[in-house]
Amino acid sequence: MAKIQLLDEDVINKIAAGEVVERPASIVKELLENSIDAGATNILVEIRKSGKNFIRISDNGLGMDKEDANHSIIRHATSKIRNSEDLFNINSLGFRGEALASIAAVSQMSIVTKVDGALEGYNLVCEGGLVVSSGPIASDVGTTIEVNNLFFNTPVRKKFLKTDAVELRHIIDIVTNYALLNPQIAIKLNHENHNLIQTPAIAAMRENVAAIYGYAIAKDLLEVDFERDGVEVSGLISKPYDVRNDTKQQVLFVNERWVKNSKLSKAIYDGYHSMLFTQKHPVFVLHVKIDPNKVDVNVHPQKHEIKIEQEELVLDVVCKAVNLTLENNNLIPVVDPSFDNDMMGVVSSKYVFDKSEQKTLEVSESDVSYGARGGVVGSSVVDALYDLPKVEEPGSTGGVFYGSEDVGLSDSDVSSGEVGVEEEVVDDSGRLPEMQIFGQIHKTFFLAQVEGAALVIDQHAAHERVMYEKFMKQYERSEVVKQRLLSSVIVDFALSQVGIVKENLREINQFGFELEHFGDNSFSLKTIPAIFGRLQPRETLMILIDEIETRGNKIDKIKEEIIMRMACRSAVMAGDELTVAWITRILSDLNKTKHPFTCPHGRPTMIKMTIDELEKKFRRK
Ligand code: ADP
Ligand code: MG
Repeated sequence: MAKIQLLDEDVINKIAAGEVVERPASIVKELLENSIDAGATNILVEIRKSGKNFIRISDNGLGMDKEDANHSIIRHATSKIRNSEDLFNINSLGFRGEALASIAAVSQMSIVTKVDGALEGYNLVCEGGLVVSSGPIASDVGTTIEVNNLFFNTPVRKKFLKTDAVELRHIIDIVTNYALLNPQIAIKLNHENHNLIQTPAIAAMRENVAAIYGYAIAKDLLEVDFERDGVEVSGLISKPYDVRNDTKQQVLFVNERWVKNSKLSKAIYDGYHSMLFTQKHPVFVLHVKIDPNKVDVNVHPQKHEIKIEQEELVLDVVCKAVNLTLENNNLIPVVDPSFDNDMMGVVSSKYVFDKSEQKTLEVSESDVSYGARGGVVGSSVVDALYDLPKVEEPGSTGGVFYGSEDVGLSDSDVSSGEVGVEEEVVDDSGRLPEMQIFGQIHKTFFLAQVEGAALVIDQHAAHERVMYEKFMKQYERSEVVKQRLLSSVIVDFALSQVGIVKENLREINQFGFELEHFGDNSFSLKTIPAIFGRLQPRETLMILIDEIETRGNKIDKIKEEIIMRMACRSAVMAGDELTVAWITRILSDLNKTKHPFTCPHGRPTMIKMTIDELEKKFRRK
């Protein structure tokens, strides 16, 4: 056995650096935190080659004098806490005093800094943790830290870095999170001379979110503002149907610190009840404020894990905050308890998508496919509906998008003739039984009668199925029918999306959106897919961009999901009032689909109550 020896400081620093500096994004995080702690109102993050070779963060914060600058690169040297009691009452982002030492140990780092009132600034240059030069320098008040050649002296770590795209994504995420947390600070992220994120210094959180996630998302978010038992919850959350496939747009801050905490996240999901579709994720930017005495942030060197005292209470308040926000915005299903839940309860509920309900209520195809075919909902009805009235367009973004008539529903302009796809879709035999339609209940369901049973049909699910199959057909044949907008519409993307849009213009076009670059992050939208024109074409376009951004641009693999979301977004919603003519039209279209009994997500479009069941319920049998 060899003799035990104390490691020298250089090795200790490299080992410790591994915990703090995992990748370029960790450096960006630590330096951003320092700038924020220094009271900066303007922070510029510049990177090259995804941060692997060059990271520079400049702030207009307090700066450091010569002595502090020299101390700042020493491990466990900090201005933020003094003793172990302070550890449990931390009001700054940093406190461990090891970030600069760790970064300096594995890179070539330079600091230029000046405090207010000083005649000149101070410059410190280090390499592998050792100071190689220092001296006065002309500078503005504030601090600029430049990190070159990360891991130049630890080649193995360098090898573990991911591709440029992945490392850049991590940096974008970090800057995004801190920008979301700090609306009052103007933050800019510049990669190879392109601005990827740029937020102005503003007070309003929604505007800040708009600058980062884009206006389309920000404008529909609901505001959370709730306090109970000393726990404050504030921020923005999405409506249950404005969801994503991933958790990328979810940010959680506890006492001004960005944290990852699965229990808190779960509490937020719980707040949504069963209103979230499975495997869908809400957008949220939420701040939780708790007495700093009750949070331990000293769990991990990267400081994004926390331990909370009275955790149950905090989770409960967070859940309640989300829940009440949704409830106050009339987004919670109200089930009348006086109804028997296993059947009629569903009829009075706005959402029938609860998994448990689905099981008992699902209609198997054989259940419904009896009786005469075609019939009332057959194609003859379509002829009779040639002159449909205009549908109400709740939440419509204005006439400009609806150049021609009723794009979504009155699809006579989309079908047959010009495209020649409809012929094949029309299957005169149809899959639905003959039915008599009575109308709409709760502006959410259609009520109809078939032989021996009553049908309750979910208008959104049914229309979603129709839209999905129609568009899929057009798309697969590269025959998406476009509608030219009367005057083109300018769409602003988040800066991080501009590259994605430019690279995928052709693919985006295949979905019916003709875009032209208009300058900076603006594009002008010339056409929209005719079928989806009914509601907010901008939003439908955003769904497409969002999918490409988050799931990669192998369109063929993700087209289903994209079209599903577009169909969902543009289908009639619960709450849309529809005339019997419209109802008939939707059902007639549903009759022509391949899978009329489920929506594209697999939930039922209709449930059935047989006369037999009804008679039993009323104790007639
Ligand atoms: P910590 O942030 O945990 O204190 P760091 O190693 O990140 O440890 O920083 C060490 C010290 O250097 C800080 O406590 C602070 O006093 C000073 N410092 C670092 N960055 C800045 C900055 N951008 N502006 C002013 N002071 C800074
Ligand atoms: Mg720090």
